[in-house]
Amino acid sequence: MRIYISADIEGVTGVSTWQETLKGNAEYNRYREQMTREVAAACEGAREAGADYIIVKDAHEDGKNLIHAMLPEQVKIISGWSNHPYNMVEGLDQSFDGVIFIGYHSGGSSNGTPLAHTLSLDSIRNIYINGKKADEFLIYTYAAHMLKVPVIMVSGDGELIRRVRAFDPAVKTVAVQEGFGGAIVSIHPNAATARIKKAAKRAVESIGRIKTTALDTYELKVEFKRHQDAYKYSFYPQVEQIGEYTIKYNATHYMDILTLLMFM
Ligand SMILES: [Zn+2]
Repeated sequence: MRIYISADIEGVTGVSTWQETLKGNAEYNRYREQMTREVAAACEGAREAGADYIIVKDAHEDGKNLIHAMLPEQVKIISGWSNHPYNMVEGLDQSFDGVIFIGYHSGGSSNGTPLAHTLSLDSIRNIYINGKKADEFLIYTYAAHMLKVPVIMVSGDGELIRRVRAFDPAVKTVAVQEGFGGAIVSIHPNAATARIKKAAKRAVESIGRIKTTALDTYELKVEFKRHQDAYKYSFYPQVEQIGEYTIKYNATHYMDILTLLMFM
């Protein structure tokens, strides 16, 4: 069984400031280690349930956060960015049986974590797909579903996990922290890894019972933080500016949505 894992850091246990997520800060090393421990726990759980091929996309900042030597020996890592539109799930293809998201976080304009954002923190306020607010979980779940690969497990902040459950209650989830204002309440890092391992095992065991969604058309709306960006992207083919800060783009192929997002 082939499992693909995409890992971010903002939804890792205990992470609540940007310094903790960025190289060059003393706090960063502690949390890159916890990010790695959570990925390792997911790998172990998946392997116990029969996964014999696991590849992990390091999907935060420069894509070079995970400490490979701390992962089980059979696990491969995709580090850095190819600039393929699959972005946080680059390298995924139809040969995989399931996708796991570790350390994922609430989207822009949410108070689910002090670090809530969707893709570019600098320029994007909100993204909507078919009228529904889209976080990175939803954007890359649709990418996996386009390839007919189900997303089987997600860990991250509580607000994100509630959205995942509303999207599909069959997806296994672990909430490791709960945001309120600028603060978070976290479970113990060891409790997080134990729960992630268990959830990953159950998720791989449940493959076949989790469905993928194929939508007929996709309407992407992007609300920027600066009106200059809405003006700029209005020149992208088929994009329409529908407000001072907002553009709209319709596509029948989800790949076109991913490609536009890649250019932002
Ligand atoms: Zn990140």
